[in-house]
Amino acid sequence: MARYKSARVGERGEPKPRCCVCGSEDVCAKIEGKFYCYKCGSRIIVEHSRRIVEELVAKYLGEKLLTQDDPFNWGGG
Ligand SMILES: [Zn+2]
Repeated sequence: MARYKSARVGERGEPKPRCCVCGSEDVCAKIEGKFYCYKCGSRIIVEHSRRIVEELVAKYLGEKLLTQDDPFNWGGG
């Protein structure tokens, strides 16, 4: 008489997500399919938003500076 106690198959073999930067198991964010711990995740977000700001500055302020022929033209000739 084979009696199987509810075999818990499939409950193991579930890998714990780890931070892809420092390898910490204390994962709290998933960014672009990768896991990050709080420390690395927040750093990624800060650097990402800083890059966006820098692109905007280069795009708008850079063009503005280029379109001004001489921002320090004092009219002396
Ligand atoms: Zn980390």
